[in-house]
Amino acid sequence: MTPSPVSVNGGSASNSAVVIAVANQKGGVAKTTTSVNLAACIAEAGHRTLLVDMDPQGGCAVCLGMDTTIITNSVYDALVKPRMSVLDVIVPSAFGFDLAPANIDLAGAEVELKQGLAAETVLQRRLATAKEHYDFILIDTPPSLGILTVNSLTAADYVLIPTACEYMALRGLRMLLDTMESVREVTNPDLQVLGVLATRYDPRTINSREIYAYLTEFCEREGLRLFSQVIKRSVRFSEAPRFHMPLVNWRSELDGARAYRELAQEVLHAQSKTP
Ligand code: ADP
Ligand code: MG
Repeated sequence: MTPSPVSVNGGSASNSAVVIAVANQKGGVAKTTTSVNLAACIAEAGHRTLLVDMDPQGGCAVCLGMDTTIITNSVYDALVKPRMSVLDVIVPSAFGFDLAPANIDLAGAEVELKQGLAAETVLQRRLATAKEHYDFILIDTPPSLGILTVNSLTAADYVLIPTACEYMALRGLRMLLDTMESVREVTNPDLQVLGVLATRYDPRTINSREIYAYLTEFCEREGLRLFSQVIKRSVRFSEAPRFHMPLVNWRSELDGARAYRELAQEVLHAQSKTP
C-alpha cells in the first residue's frame, strides 16, 4: 500500500522522529490527557508531531472530538494488516498535530499479534516510515503491561511516566520499571525514562503532598528525572473533552494549560540533552 500523504505535518526531512511513550499501567493517571496536551504544545512550538493511540479505548480521538466508530483505518489496521503502516492510518487533528487513531478494534490485535512472528516489535516496524515525516511521535498506551504496551516501549526512545498524586502508585512504578528492563534486555536496549510527571496534585491535601514527597524520594533513589512542572488537579481537564479540544487549546490561560506548555519545554530540553 502506498503511504497516504502526511497532512499538516507533511514535508520531507532527513531526520528521524524522537519517539516518546506515555506509559503507566495504572488507569486514570492522566496518560491520555498528557498525550493530547503535550502533542498540542510540542506542535505549537513548531515541531512536526504525531500522536499514536495504542489504547483500544480510543481516548485520544475522543478528546479531539472524533467519532471512533466511523474511523475506517485505525492503529489496529496498521498493526495487523499485511503491507500497512502507521502512515496509512494518519488523520490530521485541528490542533497542529496528526493522529493515528485507535478504536475498540485494537482490543482484538492483542490476540492476532501473538499469532504472528516477533509480536513485540510490530509497532516498531510499522512506525519506521512515519518516523521520517515527524520530529516527535508520542504514543499513548493502555492501562496494562500487555503486548500493546510492550510494543509501545519497544518502538520508543523514551518513556514519560505520569503518576497521580492521589494514591500510592509507587508499587506500580516499580513494576513499570521492571517491564522496561525486560524490554531493554529483549527488544530495545536503548530505551530510557525521560521523566516522571506528577499529575492530579492537590496542594491543599496532606495526602497529595506526602505522595509528592515520596515520589521525589523515589525518583532520587532510582536516578530518574522528576519533571519540575507538576500538573495540579483541576475539573477543567475532564471538561475539555466535552468541547472536543485539549485543555491547552480550549482554555490556554488556565494554570493547567500553562503547566503543560512548561512541561513541553522541559520535555524538549530533556530529550535534547539525553545522550
Ligand atoms: P489515563 O489515560 O491514564 O487513564 P486520563 O488522561 O484519561 O487517564 O484521565 C483520567 C480522568 O482524569 C479523565 O477524566 C481526565 O479528564 C481526568 N484528569 C486528567 N488530568 C487531570 C487533572 N490534572 N486533574 C483532574 N482531573 C484530571
Ligand atoms: Mg488513557
